[in-house]
Amino acid sequence: MNNNIVNLQDKLQALLLSQQGNFVQGSVADYIPALAKVNPALAGISVAAIDGKTVGVGDYQRPFSIQSISKVFGLVMAMNRIGDSLWQRVNMEPSGQPFNSIIQLEWEKGIPRNPVINAGALLVADVLTSHFSASKLAFLSFMRTLAGTEAIYVDNNVYQSELSHGNRNAALAYLMKSFGNIQADIPAILSHYFTQCSVSMSCEQLAQSLLFLANKGVDPRTNEVICSPKDAHRVNAILSTSGMYDQSGEFAFSVGLPAKSGVGGGIIAIVPGYGVICTWSPPLNKFGNSVVGVNLVAAIAEELGLSIYH
Ligand code: GLN
Repeated sequence: MNNNIVNLQDKLQALLLSQQGNFVQGSVADYIPALAKVNPALAGISVAAIDGKTVGVGDYQRPFSIQSISKVFGLVMAMNRIGDSLWQRVNMEPSGQPFNSIIQLEWEKGIPRNPVINAGALLVADVLTSHFSASKLAFLSFMRTLAGTEAIYVDNNVYQSELSHGNRNAALAYLMKSFGNIQADIPAILSHYFTQCSVSMSCEQLAQSLLFLANKGVDPRTNEVICSPKDAHRVNAILSTSGMYDQSGEFAFSVGLPAKSGVGGGIIAIVPGYGVICTWSPPLNKFGNSVVGVNLVAAIAEELGLSIYH
């Protein structure tokens, strides 16, 4: 290992240690009962650089429920599949509302504010369900290709738990259907959406899988084109304005990176031209973002001078 990596590893270790007292400031998601069982003191960080180096500390190789981080991958698949017509069915504006809010959706006639709140991700799930003969399998293969391993699985406990507590997501989907913005059957869409949310991956796998977004759509490890440069730009723009839900403004203000959180406690942050940061710590703040994760991404961005607004 060269000195830079050793230094980065030491820095990450020190940052993780500095957060030990902060787990108690949040609470694990309990509206999905299977997530409430996760040990709140687990925590990890991984930083993958586009030059191929990956550094990790803590529980960075332990799989966790990726939840809404899956929305990034689903969006890329839908953009690849149906192109610009997607943007007639979903907007690209921040919502300023909680991730599972239903209020705005009726005012705005069943057109979700953006593809990374739940309504938008359900719309994307409709696109995938309607355009792939086996959309869940297609999603899983996409994740396996990007992670470079076949060992990526759906956590069936989490899936069942989401399915039996999914009334709000069902309500969002039925409301969109009533406005004519959903094509497939709602149970099929929900099954796809809960499947992608229930995928388990580690910080290391997530950071490496998203390197294409830091590299204009090309996976730097294989030189494979995962999406167009224009779409990589668009995804990063949406993550900058909406990826941290109704904390996105504050996150841009204090951190300055495109990022996406999930209620499993994961956060991914894209650093264009440099790489990807992934943190995991289950206790969440009132916005549904990991308390320690937000602190860690902020500290890493600050320490390494990574803000895109510099
Ligand atoms: N599966 C979760 C839900 O639909 C995802 C939410 C999230 O991670 N923010 O509520």
